[in-house]
Amino acid sequence: MKKILAIISIACIIAFILSCNNSTSSNEETNSNKPSADTELDAYISKIKAVDNHAHPNTIDPNDKGSDALPLDGLGAIELPARVRPESQTWIDASRALYGFKGDALNEDAMKVLMDTIEHVKKQKGDAFPNWVLDQANIEVMFGNRITIGSGFSAPRFRWVSYVDALLFPLSTKAEAAVTPDREKLFPMEDQLLKKYLSDLNISKLPATLDEYLKQVVTATLEAQKKGGCIAVKFEAAYLRSLDFEKTAQEQASEVYTHYINGGEPSHEKYKLLQDFIFYYIAREAGRLGMAVHIHSYPGAGNYFVAAGCDPLLLEPVFNDSELRNTKFVIIHGGGTFAKHTSAMLWKPNVYADISLLTQLWTPEQLALVLRDWLSQFPEKILFGTDAVAFGPGLGWEMSAWIASTTGRQALNIALSGMIRDNEISLSRAKEIATMVMRTNAGNLYNLELK
Ligand SMILES: [Zn+2]
Repeated sequence: MKKILAIISIACIIAFILSCNNSTSSNEETNSNKPSADTELDAYISKIKAVDNHAHPNTIDPNDKGSDALPLDGLGAIELPARVRPESQTWIDASRALYGFKGDALNEDAMKVLMDTIEHVKKQKGDAFPNWVLDQANIEVMFGNRITIGSGFSAPRFRWVSYVDALLFPLSTKAEAAVTPDREKLFPMEDQLLKKYLSDLNISKLPATLDEYLKQVVTATLEAQKKGGCIAVKFEAAYLRSLDFEKTAQEQASEVYTHYINGGEPSHEKYKLLQDFIFYYIAREAGRLGMAVHIHSYPGAGNYFVAAGCDPLLLEPVFNDSELRNTKFVIIHGGGTFAKHTSAMLWKPNVYADISLLTQLWTPEQLALVLRDWLSQFPEKILFGTDAVAFGPGLGWEMSAWIASTTGRQALNIALSGMIRDNEISLSRAKEIATMVMRTNAGNLYNLELK
């Protein structure tokens, strides 16, 4: 999920206010219909200091430039699931918890007061604001998926996850961009990011051969990211193409590169050969450098998103490649509605899944169903995550971090309590699994020095 500031703009805030003036909200499960679950386990889970595998924190600068590689602002008004729409009860719960909001609805006046309060808190906290946000959601470490890590995000509480899709597209992306209206808007951003990567390396022109490109641009960028503290690289490829990366011979890929590097439009088939080759190269290099590979797998966002292209099953040849077994892959957002396919991929020794974004879009009950399937099979492969992101004025990343943290813990409690009830696990094993998901699985995967 991406930064959606412009999508939920003033018009939406008005819709928000109007809908909040109605007597009831459609989504009140967070406070009125709390799932019945083991209270001891509930208390235990709420105290676990989490490691958040995936989030998009912003600096306090309203013009935070280094955040998202593919902000969805430019895509216009996109469909959003009910639970993250501005009228959802979850935002009211978050504003109560974080800013002491007292009312039952965020009407126009209340919204003004809330936004003033937010400004005041940001000013007062300054660069300590991000750490304060983590404390509110009981998150010890947050992985910030950003172009640059930015001020206020220092280790050990914030760790950096970079973006690497731009490296897949050294040739003209005109034909790739023409596939959907969304891609038309997104590809130019990748072109810009590749230019930034080149300029960071003091390279003014793309090298003439693929071999030089791989060494001088791809490896050099990955090594610089590693040196900058990066613990994982992120592919948002599903926004740009299908995840069906196939193993390609370097010769074939080289031919395409050399032929089109000085101009011309490669066909999709030819360009795919090159992209696929570079993907395997990046995955191998990430493994060599000790960085995990994060891959977006969720059927959205965007009104022209190609859902079939984000199915984690498409990644099976990558996961089965014996040359990539030193690389750890994380299916970000757990495949969403393809969660059963994710479950099938967890058999691979180097594949993990996180629950980021699901902790915002799904109710605790919905998420618990998926968690129960995964946790009964591969409890050491599942990672907590928020996908904390700014949804618009007054609905910042700090609010979605809190919502996701609360929802994730509720879902975990429901899933594990069900397993206890069915004599699948004991209470002490449930506590163990909860700690693994919220914290120690990530600690082991990324070699974090958690106390
Ligand atoms: Zn995200």
